Amino acid sequence: MLCAIIARQRHETLLEEMDEAVARGAKLLELRLDFLRHEPRLGEILKRKKVPVIATLRRKEDGGIWNGTEEKRQQLLRAAVALGFDYVDLEADVAAEIPRFGPTKRIVSHHEMTEMPHLGECWQSLSQLDPDVIKIAGLAGKATDNFKMLRMIAKAEVPTVGICMGEFGIASRVLGPKFGAPFTYCAFNPERIVAPGLMTFDQMNELYRGNEVNAKTEVFGVMGDPIAHSMSPLVHNTAFRELRMNRVYLPFRVTEHVLPKFLDKLSHAEVRGLSVTIPHKEAIVSRGMAGDELVAMAGAANTIHVDDHGAYRLYNTDGPAAMASLLRAMGEDPSDSKAFAGRDVLILGAGGVARPIAFSLHQAGAIVSVANRSADRAQSLAHAVGCKFIDWGMRESHLAEIVINCTKLGMHPDVDETPIQQSAMREKMIFFDTVYNPIMTKFLLLAKDRGAKIVTGVEMFAAQAEAQFRIFTGVDPPAGLMKQLVEEELSPARKMLREARLAKKDQV
Ligand code: NAP
Repeated sequence: MLCAIIARQRHETLLEEMDEAVARGAKLLELRLDFLRHEPRLGEILKRKKVPVIATLRRKEDGGIWNGTEEKRQQLLRAAVALGFDYVDLEADVAAEIPRFGPTKRIVSHHEMTEMPHLGECWQSLSQLDPDVIKIAGLAGKATDNFKMLRMIAKAEVPTVGICMGEFGIASRVLGPKFGAPFTYCAFNPERIVAPGLMTFDQMNELYRGNEVNAKTEVFGVMGDPIAHSMSPLVHNTAFRELRMNRVYLPFRVTEHVLPKFLDKLSHAEVRGLSVTIPHKEAIVSRGMAGDELVAMAGAANTIHVDDHGAYRLYNTDGPAAMASLLRAMGEDPSDSKAFAGRDVLILGAGGVARPIAFSLHQAGAIVSVANRSADRAQSLAHAVGCKFIDWGMRESHLAEIVINCTKLGMHPDVDETPIQQSAMREKMIFFDTVYNPIMTKFLLLAKDRGAKIVTGVEMFAAQAEAQFRIFTGVDPPAGLMKQLVEEELSPARKMLREARLAKKDQV
């Protein structure tokens, strides 16, 4: 269950937002009374409430903004209990001072704003303070902190909400209820992100379907660093929702040194599948997991599937996705790679995305050449594939039928860059850019202007995500959905239209 936090300075706005949150589907509200400019009118709040409410007056050292005296704060907390608030939030050091009275439930809380607390000791000491709910929040420093928090929630004998704050901790916020947390917090108003990493009600409700997460929810995600701007959570969660699957897909920010531990402990969050992105695509292959043929050849994987027995299997959906996108542009059957036989393809770049594309096309019978800024990487890829190496300085003189940009040139914010100039482009050629932000890169605009066929990185992104979805679920995602979502996300005007559509759906 989602608990929407309402933090307003004006009393009237607080009351209005309480109504609005309930109308939007909130089932529990935390009222951050420390934000009010004047003394809270507790009786008026209770008269107005339509769902259970939590009274919270957070001090600065615990992440709040209360600036009155401690005596006044405790007086207000006692009044909230006496008047019959559904819950009152009491920090460990004041819990003993505010006695239990009537039906008001006690959330006994501890917040550590700069690091993770020692969870075992912390939970034990809070459990001595007559709690109905224990709440522990700490600032996460790594992805594996989520696993510790979720295990603590699962083992707890008193209902426990455990939160890893900050950008490493999104999983704990979404998955708490799967492991037994009675609710999880989110900010009703996007302007009031009162704790690091706190998500908005809309994000939690629409993207992660936080109100529906339960013990049976299957967990998937994407791991990488950075990860904040990944579009994978949007496309996979939306497909899960459309197909009414009890599954959720989360971003895990996993730094390089944490990778081994993260993979070892994945089962603590019952993760069933992961998309893998920069910088882990090659590193995971060296960890001895079984993988498909392309993974073995390219030495890079972008997908991990965990089977019912906990065994991991690696896949690479980048190569097939690039081929399917090209085949569509060529007017061929996207599953028939024979159409590449004898075609001259120039691959620009030799990194994580170039490798599987080069191997896949070579295997399909294309005559592949590789050029890269750093010659040694291109030479080593060409050698491994068994294809031609072209010097980076000679790339514009090589008139291939298909040119694929697998470099970062042209990627946002460097949108004025292109790996080749228009003078090297011909009408009969096909130009494919794996860069997808922006959708129409300078490389593609120049090629289109020349009258050539183009393939966007969005086509490939959607195709590789669709293939991952099939690996994760065994079924196809809704046709065209993932591509549409990415295009909307990357085009501000279309994104506004989608948000308006969602808001309208909300009002019905
Ligand atoms: P990577 O492993 O870091 O490789 C980066 C490549 O770009 C290398 O070949 C690098 O050359 C080259 N490069 C970087 N800056 C350059 C410059 N200023 N001039 C010339 N070459 C330069 O990254 P990756 O994972 O392969 O990703 C490459 C691109 O593919 C990114 O733009 C990414 O957005 C895109 N991508 C798209 C999809 C999709 O589904 N559409 C999926 C994955 C990635 P050096 O070896 O000389 O450094």
